[in-house]
Amino acid sequence: MKTYLSEIFSSVQGEGPYVGERHLFVRSCGCHRACVFCDTVVERTETVQIEKEAGSGTFEQVPNPLSTEQLAELIREMDHKKENHRISFTGGAPLLQANYLAKLLPVLKEEGHSIYLETAGDLPQELKTIIEWVDIVAMDVKLSSVTHEKNTFSEHWQFLQLCREEKVDVFTKLVLSAETDEDELMEAVQGIKKAGGDHTLIVIQPMTKAAKTDAVPNGQQLLRWQERVGRIMPNVRIIPQTHKMLEML
Ligand code: SF4
Repeated sequence: MKTYLSEIFSSVQGEGPYVGERHLFVRSCGCHRACVFCDTVVERTETVQIEKEAGSGTFEQVPNPLSTEQLAELIREMDHKKENHRISFTGGAPLLQANYLAKLLPVLKEEGHSIYLETAGDLPQELKTIIEWVDIVAMDVKLSSVTHEKNTFSEHWQFLQLCREEKVDVFTKLVLSAETDEDELMEAVQGIKKAGGDHTLIVIQPMTKAAKTDAVPNGQQLLRWQERVGRIMPNVRIIPQTHKMLEML
């Protein structure tokens, strides 16, 4: 079984509550969404960019697609010093490759890795096929006022409910822009509370300026949203994308 990947590299986790941990990132090609703030090239590429020496900015190109055996071997090679806390699957949308991951993840777990899944949080059936091997789920809840797409709350709630039932360590991430509709935000928070429980962590991630939008929220907006969300869900933090401040991958 093979899949298309765009990048493999070791860096610091720049988002959410695990910020600062060293992760080995595996970025898949392809995404079923089109968020206006997207900063990732999601199209299939002919080669995978591999930064074998972390932070060097020098990449080897390996032809796509990659088999599960090839990827497991690359991970062994790149993590031979065992300095990465976790293997982080990101995208694009890694869950579009759920069958591939269902073959790969048991091997990685057997070799002692912790698996971190970064996801749009809207493909519950795909999650079901791999959840037993996932340690941490970083789950987006997408607002239409921010993404400029139709929202998919019912899929998000099924997804979060599944994480809760399977007792997976999950946190929710709301990317918020200056265009955030507060009614939609509060509807999302009520949904998170119902599906995930009162203590689910909500990370408010201020949108970073991107090619198609510069609607970055200001400090006053962020603090107001944190206060409003916090009245319903006490575990709410504002965490920006720190790797971008450091100009790291
Ligand atoms: S889900 Fe992620 S990768 Fe896909 S379009 Fe949105 S921001 Fe980009």
